[in-house]
Amino acid sequence: MRKKLVVGNWKMHGSRASNALLLSGLKEAGPWTADVAVCVPFPYITETALALTGTQIAYGSQDCSAHEQGAYTGEVSSAMLADVGCRYAIVGHSERRAYHQESDQLVADKAKAALAHGITPIVCVGETLAEREAGQTEHVVKRQLAAVIHTLTHCIGEIVLAYEPVWAIGTGLTATPEQAQAVHAVLRQQLRAATQKADAMRILYGGSVKADNAAQLFAQADIDGGLIGGAALKAADFSAICRAA
Ligand code: 13P
Repeated sequence: MRKKLVVGNWKMHGSRASNALLLSGLKEAGPWTADVAVCVPFPYITETALALTGTQIAYGSQDCSAHEQGAYTGEVSSAMLADVGCRYAIVGHSERRAYHQESDQLVADKAKAALAHGITPIVCVGETLAEREAGQTEHVVKRQLAAVIHTLTHCIGEIVLAYEPVWAIGTGLTATPEQAQAVHAVLRQQLRAATQKADAMRILYGGSVKADNAAQLFAQADIDGGLIGGAALKAADFSAICRAA
């Protein structure tokens, strides 16, 4: 009932030349049965749009402003992202929460701004290693999601949720399929209490997803695809993950 979604988060990687190679490699490797998207750095969105014209691959940004417009130097609004055709905007990635002090409420406000312009926010939640070791995992992800539910109210069913345990990001330490599924089930349950659309919503797993562990993760009942960092930077690797979905 839920179509799988695989999203590449390029983070702060790439150049015009390397992007062109990566995108043409992906175009050759597709199509896939899953939905596929790439979230690229702001300066490359328009060129990515051109390169992906006529393909199944959607594109998006890695952040968006919570503000509508105005004197917010350095910010990029959802209206601008919609203007250049973004389908998705990642919000609340743990790197932004950690390095830019983004609060649960700011993340929720960003998700709301994206939805207001027809962009699907990919809302990231996840615990740190210290929080996991302190038995706080459920508490943390539920608190992060609660802010989004509270802010979006009846629109909560329109988001994509991503569970990304911070300790698994870029470390090669993947959550086991069982560990990931357990948290996804908790999140699905929380969504069920908020919206009738919960069972149609996609909850992605992110954190050291590779070609050789993707199929096992995606086979879990509540894992509806992946948010891929490092392995999204090589066409062969990303394509293999898309195939596994
Ligand atoms: P890695 O796949 O490199 O662990 O990154 C995951 C991630 O943060 C995707 O948003």
